[in-house]
Amino acid sequence: MQIQQNTVVSLSYTLKLQNGEIADQTDSENPFVFIHGIGQTLEAFDNNLTGLETGSKFNFSLSAEEGYGKFNPEAVVKLDKSIFSGPHVSENLLTEGNMVPMQDQNGNPMDGIIREIEETTVTVDFNHPLADEILHFSGEIINVRQATAEELDHGHVHGPGGHHH
Ligand code: ZN
Repeated sequence: MQIQQNTVVSLSYTLKLQNGEIADQTDSENPFVFIHGIGQTLEAFDNNLTGLETGSKFNFSLSAEEGYGKFNPEAVVKLDKSIFSGPHVSENLLTEGNMVPMQDQNGNPMDGIIREIEETTVTVDFNHPLADEILHFSGEIINVRQATAEELDHGHVHGPGGHHH
């Protein structure tokens, strides 16, 4: 069976950055399992896999625009230090390099990385950690099957590598 919209794909992959660093990796014991074509992965990632079948090997690169976007300097902001204090905030939270879960004005969750801690402010970077990176994916297709109506309804895979409920 070929990979197309609404198939459940199991695959192993290695994600390498331009400098050769391995950013992410799965193997055949612990494959990445997802429904193709419904926005569970990067659109360009899905597109590069269309038509492949079990046993197919792949090797492709995504530009930063196809990946996690260009670095946006405006997404690096100085916030008042006081918002990081309070009974629910751990003292260790304010450490440079920490990833902190926050919310935008509309209450949508977004992760920020603490870049710098100053006297009264904290500089937080809301860019994706892989912003600006060219992504090199290589790997192998382990299995392809049709998604069930229930999986499509739920928007996620059931069974091995997916949800159990
Ligand atoms: Zn479900």
